[in-house]
Amino acid sequence: MDKKRLLTGDRPTGKMHLGHYVGSIQNRVKLQDEYDCYFIIADLHMLTTKNSTEDIFNVRDNAIEVALANLACGIDPQKSTIYLQSAIHAVYEMNLIFEMLVSVPRLKRVPSLKDMARDANINEMPFGLLGYPVLQAADILMPRAHIVPVGKDNQSHVEVTREIARRFNFQYGEIFPVPDYLVEGDTLIGTDGNAKMSKSIGNTIYLFDDAKTVAKKVHGMYTDPNRIRADIPGTVEGNPVFAYHDEFNPNKAEVEDLKARYRTGTVGDVEVKEKLTIALNNFLDPIRERRAQIEADSGYVEQVIYEGTVKTSKLADETLMMMKKAMGLTGVWNKISRKGRKRMEKLQKQPQS
Ligand code: ATP
Ligand code: MG
Repeated sequence: MDKKRLLTGDRPTGKMHLGHYVGSIQNRVKLQDEYDCYFIIADLHMLTTKNSTEDIFNVRDNAIEVALANLACGIDPQKSTIYLQSAIHAVYEMNLIFEMLVSVPRLKRVPSLKDMARDANINEMPFGLLGYPVLQAADILMPRAHIVPVGKDNQSHVEVTREIARRFNFQYGEIFPVPDYLVEGDTLIGTDGNAKMSKSIGNTIYLFDDAKTVAKKVHGMYTDPNRIRADIPGTVEGNPVFAYHDEFNPNKAEVEDLKARYRTGTVGDVEVKEKLTIALNNFLDPIRERRAQIEADSGYVEQVIYEGTVKTSKLADETLMMMKKAMGLTGVWNKISRKGRKRMEKLQKQPQS
């Protein structure tokens, strides 16, 4: 039996960090054996909050950056498809068709959209941002995906996709699987102790930071603010230094020892941070090496995206045609064009007087 199809991806808004790895990329690397994976570089989605010509120009680099991060972490283009959203014409058309299958009050109840507008300093909700979950439905239903790994804040969007799929199937005919979502990994805390590592907050460690930068960032990390001396017992829970040790230090005995000594006030922050720096750089080294290898092969990333986009475009055209046929939309143009063309040809054949 064919593998089930999976769709997920990233907006090409900048560099990828450890949060992206923990929350999504590491999961994708595992899922690509089980599913036929489509990874979208969602540049049209970026337009909902960032659409200056400069933002759009930056996608040229950021799209490569996103693909590079995924590839360097182990996404295999032999198994998975990486594609550029804005080059898939059928998705724009699907978006319009789906817009008719969902109400404005329903979209207004999606909780994340107001947060997105606020984060982007947008005072009044743009029509397109309200339609973000509809465009997402077009992405997900385009390859007729069965499963969608999503971050916690995106679950409500996939709920809209499920409703649109059901509505389409009911109204026009069964075309779409109603996709299930798969809740992604944990949220990685920021280096400043903020609940989420995020480039807009500036509390990130990037996947391609060099060893020195990682050392510097770890040295400046937030720890237990009450612990002004190494001999004061400290708190491990919610402390980002230990959250990162848990996530990235494979030496569990060392981590347990550091935690025990931290709690009793017998280890300094410096030692905890030095060991974390080593663990992080050990974790990042193979990713950096893989990036260097990929980059040495000029045009490789572009080829991966190109091939993925051409393949996805065919699949999208196929789905769009199925949709239009089910709706009877193809019939309108077929009828008009057949008769219209016939008459035109007849007139052309008549000898000119
Ligand atoms: P940033 O928030 O750093 O500007 P972004 O806006 O591109 O990056 P999001 O849209 O917030 O990233 O998330 C994209 C994907 O990455 C989602 O699947 C989300 O769950 C995951 N992700 C991002 N940051 C984190 C994090 N700190 N911890 C876990 N997952 C994360
Ligand atoms: Mg974000």
